[in-house]
Amino acid sequence: MSCQNPVFIPGPTNIPDRLRRAMNVQTTDHRAPDFVELLIPMLDDLKKVFKTKSGSVITFPASGTGGWEAAITNTLSPGDKVLVARYGMFSHRWIDLCQRHNLDVDIIDCDWGEGAPADLYADRLAADKNHEIKAVLVTHNETATGVVSDIAAVRGAMDAVQHPALLYVDCVSSLASMDFRMDEWGVDLAVSGSQKGFMLITGMAIVGVSEKAMKACETATCPRCFFDFRDMIKANSNGGYPYTPPLQIIHGMRESLHMLFEEGLDNVFLRHTRIAEGVRRAVGAWNMHLCARAPELYSDTVSAIYVPDGFDSDVLTNHAFDNYGVSFGVGLGQMAGKAFRIGHLGSLTDVMSLSGIATIEMAMKDLNYPIELGSGVSAAQEYYRHSTDMSKQHA
Ligand code: PLP
Repeated sequence: MSCQNPVFIPGPTNIPDRLRRAMNVQTTDHRAPDFVELLIPMLDDLKKVFKTKSGSVITFPASGTGGWEAAITNTLSPGDKVLVARYGMFSHRWIDLCQRHNLDVDIIDCDWGEGAPADLYADRLAADKNHEIKAVLVTHNETATGVVSDIAAVRGAMDAVQHPALLYVDCVSSLASMDFRMDEWGVDLAVSGSQKGFMLITGMAIVGVSEKAMKACETATCPRCFFDFRDMIKANSNGGYPYTPPLQIIHGMRESLHMLFEEGLDNVFLRHTRIAEGVRRAVGAWNMHLCARAPELYSDTVSAIYVPDGFDSDVLTNHAFDNYGVSFGVGLGQMAGKAFRIGHLGSLTDVMSLSGIATIEMAMKDLNYPIELGSGVSAAQEYYRHSTDMSKQHA
């Protein structure tokens, strides 16, 4: 097919032509003096997206999972106790990664659809008088359930009992699409990736590291080599990489940051809130329900939507793909077959969002869902028409 539809999976996201062009560059020598002029401003600008002045940003040629592994292995030792809440597939996978690194994982199990339970974190931290907990892990935006969590509240729980643990936050599917405040929220390790809010190909793990977390590297004994922060910081400070850098994606990140700053980060966040709200209006018009339990938990980058009883969401997403050539996110883990996800992050406009809503609506109608054709589109149209003028949106 010569034409291509946007994807509505919650990452990897649609790549704007401007970024594809930026990555389409011939190889140059990464040991030549001009590499530093590309690398260092990019790392400095990434700090603005994390909203950190005191921390550092480290990038690795990896996906977000590599960023998790880097954060854990550089700062912890086997047997260290970590406290983490599980409320979706990605918080679950983070737990799995910690267990495989022989950490002692204290899990707070929550219903999927809930966010990080600051009160339960507070209870466990208050009970930990000897400060055995070395790390507190939180998934900012649980991509499986479309739930955003209040990181400041978890930091508040730690500060209330003056707990010295490091705070680790997964911001893979929030950073650069939703507000994130590393310094203000006291985040020590913030893990993200290139293929979501940054609108790039997969392949750059991005980790924000506080000064306190950097100090922890000196005593942490988890094995690491490829992901060693200290090797990377040392090489970066000399204007290079400890190994061959992924040059083309660095060019892409350079341009992505230009795009984000041209639009203005606050406008980027507003655009995502607006697009997400249109999707939520459509869900309401279909009489269907989000997995997220309450409005303050609604993610602006992904909506996970339960299908009515008796329907299989995998049949729906396959039908949309086979008949209309459009991909939506499937339900993950315990939500398989019960929910589908509309990814609305990265390079997306109201008009693109409407096309996704219209497509899934057609697929639902084909499969005899109890919805009225056009109801979701119309609800989103009304919302987009009447909300703030963002009509000059260019994906
Ligand atoms: N954390 C969250 C919240 C995610 O959404 C994802 C991927 O979708 C990951 C971690 C894992 O990242 P990656 O697939 O880039 O390794």
